[in-house]
Amino acid sequence: MDGKVAVLTGTKKIEVKKLPVPEINDDEMLVKVEGCGVCGTDVFEYKSDPFNYIPVNLGHEGTGEIVKMGKNVKNDWTGKTLKIGDKIVCGPAANGDIYGLMGGEKHYFNGWLANYMVINPNSVVFNVSDMPLDLRILIEPAAVSCHAVAKSKEIYTFKHSSSVVVQGVGPIGLMVIAQMKTLGVRHIIAVDGNASRLELAKKIGATATVNIDDGDSVAAVKELTDGKGANFVFQCTGSTKGASTAWKFLTDHGGICEVGFFVDNGEATYNPHFDVCMPETKITGSWAYVPEDWVEATEFLRETKDEGLDMTQLITNVYPLDQMNEAMAKNMSGTGVKIVYKNNQ
Ligand SMILES: [Zn+2]
Repeated sequence: MDGKVAVLTGTKKIEVKKLPVPEINDDEMLVKVEGCGVCGTDVFEYKSDPFNYIPVNLGHEGTGEIVKMGKNVKNDWTGKTLKIGDKIVCGPAANGDIYGLMGGEKHYFNGWLANYMVINPNSVVFNVSDMPLDLRILIEPAAVSCHAVAKSKEIYTFKHSSSVVVQGVGPIGLMVIAQMKTLGVRHIIAVDGNASRLELAKKIGATATVNIDDGDSVAAVKELTDGKGANFVFQCTGSTKGASTAWKFLTDHGGICEVGFFVDNGEATYNPHFDVCMPETKITGSWAYVPEDWVEATEFLRETKDEGLDMTQLITNVYPLDQMNEAMAKNMSGTGVKIVYKNNQ
């Protein structure tokens, strides 16, 4: 059987290759890909190959249906039974590698930008058959936000009365907003320069929005918090200017989480005296996720559904496999939110 794999063969050049689908061994699974989100990390690799992966079969936010199973594969990471026809998502492989970010020809069919995909032995697989496709596509980015929230809970107790700023409302920031909402936080302020993303933030839980293009965002946040400042800030922009501004939103004894971007944008400044010492600010950072965050992510997304928050609104654009260059260009244009590949075969 032939399959199709979208391969980044050069910078800004994805080609669809028709290749025989590999035979699986007793510990592997073959999955028919149903969909996969395009991530900022993919775009970063697409533009200039900073990870030296070319040629690479990209796509790490995918989901699909098990079509073949090795006889030794029985359960998912949580112990739930797996069978042919089940819908899955997948975290890292046993060696810690991320599917869709493994360079070289030998990893063709190890990325989700394909119509079939091989899951290697002992990978962190989750059976999510009860979830609709559009929510399954969002599980991986939701795991990133769940990790940021878990790290933040180590330094701050979120309460109904907490005021929380989420600066940067791309897919991760939007997830954090919905998470704050489902946790019962009643004052959630979204800060960004993109008006349509701020509109979306409101639809999924933000109680107020601040457009940085409208003037002094720090003054605006102060005004929205009765002159006090916010209790907690999630810094979800990759911008160093944003990182420097984030401290200024805080009240005394507040907390801040610098949410990890897979891109080094350089140094940012802060004032140790006024930003950290005097207000006794608590600080944490977050980087990617651990398997437990995927469990949280699936429960969080189920909870949004139960609460009537439509997270599928984050998916703004859908492309077939042979239009991955267009999908990357759309992501780079910044005019969509979550750009997605769906396998329409
Ligand atoms: Zn990603």
